[in-house]
Parts: sequence; structure tokens; C-alpha cells
Amino acid sequence: MILRFFNYSVVLGLVVLIGIIGLKQDEKPQSIEVYVTVDWEGRSLDDEDIEAMQSFRQQFPYIPMLQLLNPAYFVRNHAYPARLAQTVQSTFLPIDTQGLHVHAWKSLTEYCGVAYQYSHSFADMDENCQKGDCGYTVSLEFAYTEQALTKLIACSNQILIDNGFNKSVHFRAGGWQLGPKLIAALEANDFTWDSSRIDADLLTTRWHEDSGMVTMLRQLHPNSTPLDQPYLLGKKLMEVPNNAALADYTSTKQIVTLFKSLIAEKKQVMVLGFHQETAADFLVNLEKAIPEMEAIAAAGNIRLVWVVQRQPT
Ligand SMILES: [Zn+2]
Repeated sequence: MILRFFNYSVVLGLVVLIGIIGLKQDEKPQSIEVYVTVDWEGRSLDDEDIEAMQSFRQQFPYIPMLQLLNPAYFVRNHAYPARLAQTVQSTFLPIDTQGLHVHAWKSLTEYCGVAYQYSHSFADMDENCQKGDCGYTVSLEFAYTEQALTKLIACSNQILIDNGFNKSVHFRAGGWQLGPKLIAALEANDFTWDSSRIDADLLTTRWHEDSGMVTMLRQLHPNSTPLDQPYLLGKKLMEVPNNAALADYTSTKQIVTLFKSLIAEKKQVMVLGFHQETAADFLVNLEKAIPEMEAIAAAGNIRLVWVVQRQPT
């Protein structure tokens, strides 16, 4: 009898203890990590866009950026590549991380010894230029072989290193055109972080439902939603979905709504950003959203973390 009573006491004690631990976990403040990513398209380095970024950095010096660079700037016939690198870096802060963003410009593929492909274009454009540069809208996944992509990624990484940047392990595909061939190419090049998955519905503010962009993304990422969270995509490659798109596609109100939806569902990661090439026009959407997001987090006792990434050396 005494033994049985003892057993009941132990069981009761355990139940109470588990209850207390459960309560403690519930009491732990909710948190959300926000990544600010920048897609550098390799198209232009205009003063007004660079200045818009510099001004953002002054306004929010505590917010790190993941600077995803296209190396095409450095392979066209520029007289002063060092000056170009300085211009790019004039928008950086020491808390930033630098990664790679590839659109297969003809200048880049030719420099890298990869046969240029002009189809398919995710913008339904004729990319078969004979003069000048083109290729910005050619889908990496639909146009290139795994072997060609592996070479292009390795070469792109090396061009950045040759111009004084770090080796990249972070990646986003031009036009979010990521599929199995590109995943294999990224893994072969030791990339560990990708943010190319996106819900095509987030882009219909500017792309028609029948456009190449939307139809190709529905094919590549059929189950993506704005609530998607990080998961392992390959053997070492973490997918960190671009679940809040880029500021070209989202008004301030939409950014804030996406933030609220993630919080409501207790999701812990939000990935937003903008393009360097359109910073003068669209970075303001993010600038206005940030104080609102911070106020929402403060009011809900939610810890908002602006994510700093580890830069490989
Ligand atoms: Zn891009």
C-alpha cells in the first residue's frame, strides 16, 4: 500500500513538473528572424540606386544585409573594375554578408566558357542578341545543363573573389529559377544556403498569370506559400524561402501584412529584400515597413531579430 502510494506520488509529481515545464515554454517570448536580402542584377550601378542604399544604411545602421551579387558588372569591357567594386562596397556595412545572384548574361557565360543559351526566357523576351549584352531573363534551370550550371556558378564565384569579394555560400537564382539541375550545381560548389523558392502568387502584382515568370515558377515551386520556412533542400543546402518576395512586388502594406501573417502562425523566419537596380524606386516600401514591423513586434512582446549571417573566409 505504501509502495503504491509512493508510486502515485511520483507519477503525480512528474505530471506537475511536466506541466510547469510546458508553461515555462509557453512563457518564452515569441521571436521572428528577418533576413534583408539584396539582389544585384548585374545590369547597372546608377548613382540614384547606390545613394538610396547608402541612405537606408544611415537610417537603419543596425540592420544587416545579405548582398547577393551578380558578377556580370566586372566582365563587361569596363576600364576601371576596381572603381566598380568600390561603388558596390560603398553600400556595405561590416555586419553584412555577401553571396551570389546569377542571371546568365551573355557577357558572363562567354567569359566563363559556357555556351550561351537564349531560351527559355522567363519574361517571354527575345534574348538572342548579336550585339551588346542580353540573357538577363534566360532561366538557369530551363535553359542550361547541370554541367554548364556547375561551371557557371564556380566561375561566377571566382570573378567576385578576383575583384576583392568573399567566396560565396549564399545564393539566389535570377528570376528564382531554381530546380534540380541548379540545386546539384550549387551543392557541387559547396553552397549551403539558397533563397530561390517563392510563391508565384507574390509576383502577380507585376507579372501576368500567363507570363513565363508565373507559369515557370508554378512548375518549379508548385507548393510554395508565403508561410514557408527553412528546410534542407539537398545534402548540405538549406533552402530559406524568399517568403516575403522583394520590395518591387510588395507595397509597405503588403510587407506588413506578410509579417503579421507569419507572426499569427508563429513562424520564425521572414525573407524580404529589394533589387539594387531599382532601389531608388522601391526601397522606400521597406523603409516605411520597418518601423511598423518593429512597433508590431514591440506591442506583441515578440523578439524581432535582423539576421546576421556567417561569412565564409
Ligand atoms: Zn535578379
